[in-house]
Parts: sequence; structure tokens; C-alpha cells
Amino acid sequence: MKIHEYQAKELFRKYNIPVPDGQVAFNADEAVQVAQILKTKDNRYVVKAQIHAGGRGKGGGVKVVDSLDGVREAAKQIIGMQLITHQTGPEGKKVKSVLVEEASSIARELYISIVLDRATARPVIMASQDGGMDIEEVAEKTPERIIKEFIHPVIGLQAYQARKIAYALDIPQEGMKDALKLIMNLYKVFMEADCAMVEINPLVVTTDNRVFALDAKVDFDSNALFRHADIVSYRDLDEEDPLEVEASRYNLNYIKLEGNVGCLVNGAGLAMATMDIIKQYGAAPANFLDVGGSATDEALENAFRILLSDETVEVVFINIFGGILRCDKLAEGVVKAARKLEMRLPLVIRMKGTNVDQGKQILADSGIQYAVEETLEAAASKVASFLKQPVA
Ligand code: ADP
Ligand code: MG
Repeated sequence: MKIHEYQAKELFRKYNIPVPDGQVAFNADEAVQVAQILKTKDNRYVVKAQIHAGGRGKGGGVKVVDSLDGVREAAKQIIGMQLITHQTGPEGKKVKSVLVEEASSIARELYISIVLDRATARPVIMASQDGGMDIEEVAEKTPERIIKEFIHPVIGLQAYQARKIAYALDIPQEGMKDALKLIMNLYKVFMEADCAMVEINPLVVTTDNRVFALDAKVDFDSNALFRHADIVSYRDLDEEDPLEVEASRYNLNYIKLEGNVGCLVNGAGLAMATMDIIKQYGAAPANFLDVGGSATDEALENAFRILLSDETVEVVFINIFGGILRCDKLAEGVVKAARKLEMRLPLVIRMKGTNVDQGKQILADSGIQYAVEETLEAAASKVASFLKQPVA
């Protein structure tokens, strides 16, 4: 689960990780009020779009201004804009709020992050002197400029490792103590809050040699959220795909993709196989919806409704292995849902397993329009044949 920068900074403050003073604002008036409270010495402020994506600086979502009027103008411009960055996709994301904070006088922009390294099964700290808005390019072209420090999960981050990172970052002597504390605390928040990632880019050294987290990005392991009620309250449903949110309400797993075949399956493995095979036949999934093992009529109806409300869907493909979920039960649910929702799209069904004959009979007697296929290949080829424009 991702959160906004202002929320991540709030979390950082609790862990004594230094961040600039600032607050979130939802309109231009509020932004000015925040700036008035901040009362910076030099009247310089930064107004930053709050969306769940990076690259805001380059996309025009971060503005440094030097007056309260500047804050108002920047907030007016940014709130409501459709911000497009390399992480939002071409459609961009609508900005609902801004973080107004004091502008730092930056001497150097560094990079530090912690993620879980699957190969070594350990947390790894990555750090670089070349932080800022081009870190992707650094990773691609000069990966040797990024250092890595692996952490033993039982022993935890050791002081010597924090020093190693701070020296590699060439932290000035005056900022050394703060930098070491920051690195230790960053590891602490990573572990205690069950993060999948924490990232500070840029981590800055100011002209007066202080060390600050100027940006803050935190992603939590969703499987551990049950033990962090305070963090769950940070969730912003507006930032998530509305259909995915709705599906999660009914315990359905829905994943939005780029193609135009709506796939209803049971089980993640079958979902993968289904997507692979329709791709081989020149079609691509618009989504897949995993109804799991114990789909009730209600769950199936919701599943159908979610699939059909995805406007990119041209064909619906139901591919079910009847194990715990019996084929007759599924067929009943499909018939009910198709009637109730007055489905008009072509429907291809392939099912195998428990009570498959009864299931087929129910479908045949129902009067709904569908094509049924025995094999995965035949079903995939049928699906592709219904597409307006088959992909290569
Ligand atoms: P993103 O990573 O989404 O582009 P950042 O928060 O990293 O957003 O901001 C982009 C750039 O804006 C930073 O690299 C930094 O140069 C500048 N910036 C951000 N916050 C401040 C601040 N408080 N004071 C001065 N400059 C800032
Ligand atoms: Mg950044």
C-alpha cells in the first residue's frame, strides 16, 4: 500500500528522521495559511503535488516560490491539474492536494532507500551521491555509483554499516552525526512499519551542512497491514483503480490490464495460464478477476458487474476449474448474473471439473448467448475471433 509524501513525512517525524516543516493543503487558501504558519525566514516555500507517483518535479508538480502570492499561484496551478509523470502512465493523475513546506537551500542531492532483496532474502540499503530527479538514469548508465549494504535480518543494521554508507555519501563532518541517526532510524521505520520500500530522493545536505529528507516515499507490505491500524488510515482510495477497490470489497481479486478480454477465472495459476494462452492467440487481457474457490451467486454477480463496467472489455472469457467451486454452481451464477446485468458482449466459457455436465446443461437451458469450448486452445482462439481488432 502506497501513501502520500506528506503522510510519509509524518511517519518519518515520529522516527526522528529530519524533514522540512510543512503541511498538506487541499485548496489555495489553505496553502497560504500553511505558508503563514511556517513563516520561513527568507519567504521561500515549496508547493508539491501529492499523488502516489514519483517524477513530480519533472512533470511540473513541484514549484519553488518566494512569496505568499507565489504559494497561492502555485497551489492554484497544481491542485486540480492532471499530472503526468513517468510513473503515472499517459493518462496522468488528478492532483487533490499539495504539500506546502519550507524551501531548503540545497548543497547536494543524495539518494537512499531500503527494499527487500529477494536473492539474498535480506533488506538492502541502496545509496548514491547522485540523488535527485535522474536516479533512474544513474541506475541504468552508471550502476557502480549506487552502493548496496545488505542487512542481516536478525542482527539488524549495525553502526559500522551506517558509517560505511555515510562515508560513501561523503557526508560533511558537521552533518555526520545526524546522517548516522537518520540511516539507523530509516531502517527502524522500514522494519517496524513492515515496509516493502522506503526511499528518500533527494536526501539533501544543505548549504549549512544539515541533512534532511526532502522527499519521502513509503510502500507497505499489504499482508502486514492488519497489525498497523494507524497506517491503514493513510490509505487513499482515490489513488487506486476504482474497480480494484470495489473488487477488494467483495474479496475478489481484480487486476486491471491493457488488453480487451475480460477474464473470469478461479485461482491465480489459472489466471496466468489463461492470459498466456489468449496472448498466443492474438488477444490480450483487459483484466482478470479471480473469484477464488467459494464464489457465491452474489460474488459472481459482483464479479460480472465489475468485469462489464470496464469499458475496454470486448469479450468475456470464463475459464474455470471446478474443484471447490463446482461447475453447476458456477453456471447458475453466470446465468443469473448475465440475465440480471443484461449482458450483451460475446461470452466464451470453458470449464472442467466437478459437475461439469450439470453445469453445461444449466447453460444450455438458460437461453443466454455464449460459446462453450472444451480445450484451452479452442477457447482462446474463439475469444480472439470475437475481437474487433485482433492484436498480433
Ligand atoms: P519527485 O521525486 O516526485 O520529483 P521531489 O520531492 O523529489 O519530487 O522534488 C523534486 C525536486 O524538487 C527535488 O529534487 C528538489 O530539487 C526540489 N525540492 C523538493 N522539495 C524541496 C524543498 N523542500 N526545498 C527545496 N527544494 C525542494
Ligand atoms: Mg523525489
